[in-house]
Amino acid sequence: MKSTVETQVFENIADLRQWRCRLRYKDNFDRQPIVGFVPTMGALHQGHMSLVQKALQECSHVVVSIFVNPIQFVKGEDFDKYPRPFEKDLELCVRAGVHAVFHPTCEQMYPNGQASLTRVVPPGELTGHLCGAFRPGHFEGVATVVAKLFGQVEPNYAYFGEKDYQQLVVVRRMVADLDLPVAVVASPTVRESDGLAMSSRNVYLNSGERAVAPVLHQTLLTVSKNATSKALTLQEALADGRRKLEQVPGLTLQYLEACDAITLEPVAECKHPMVVLVAAKLGDVRLIDNIIVPKI
Ligand code: AMP
Repeated sequence: MKSTVETQVFENIADLRQWRCRLRYKDNFDRQPIVGFVPTMGALHQGHMSLVQKALQECSHVVVSIFVNPIQFVKGEDFDKYPRPFEKDLELCVRAGVHAVFHPTCEQMYPNGQASLTRVVPPGELTGHLCGAFRPGHFEGVATVVAKLFGQVEPNYAYFGEKDYQQLVVVRRMVADLDLPVAVVASPTVRESDGLAMSSRNVYLNSGERAVAPVLHQTLLTVSKNATSKALTLQEALADGRRKLEQVPGLTLQYLEACDAITLEPVAECKHPMVVLVAAKLGDVRLIDNIIVPKI
């Protein structure tokens, strides 16, 4: 069913700002709006839409940004071929009842180019391992664009998926360290029926790769079960998981690690709260997933 909200589409920052300002001072003089924000790179799927639904339930107005951010792609990555089905994305936002879609160009976001730019540099202890080790500069690009988007949208709440767990921790830390006036809300990973975490990059998988991709989630479940049941020590459970993943044809394991779920510090033994994170390439497609290990 279509929503009764008329979705505004903004392609430049000034128009978005004007709308945001009017929301605060003109149309809602008596009742201040609560703005929820869902930053995305588009190619929207049910994972993104779960964040949108949560924001719509909790806020009076919801803004979705759709921007494939060049500065978070590392050399040799898929920036040029990243899917950009904007009309389809817009239709999903309209149907959901999103109040504003912000779809800026790279020129709008980086008018002075990317080489000369004030950047947000998250602390190395959060970005030196896991995905950060394989994608140097990635989280700097994420933190920088998220900080800019927060300045443009001025949200009260910003919604992020647990699917990108390291990103969530980096953004939380940036908000805390820079005293940004926004509350970060985390939302659980949405999965396909066979357990594969939904991702815009899943469309790149060929049928053989797609068939084996759920092994990542299955391995996380097994590691979590083995470690919490004490059938194995945490290190044995991780080693067992790595061994199994390394035997999957076409799969190149990047990491399978257990970390403190708040600080992302690697942990030697089971503790609470703990997250087990994995990244692997299936052919050319890089997939990530994680599981928050339940309290024993
Ligand atoms: P992206 O478009 O990949 O930058 O993702 C935008 C937001 O959607 C991020 O906060 C992601 O963590 C979140 N997200 C992506 N995939 C999922 C998923 N399967 N479940 C929940 N959230 C997701």
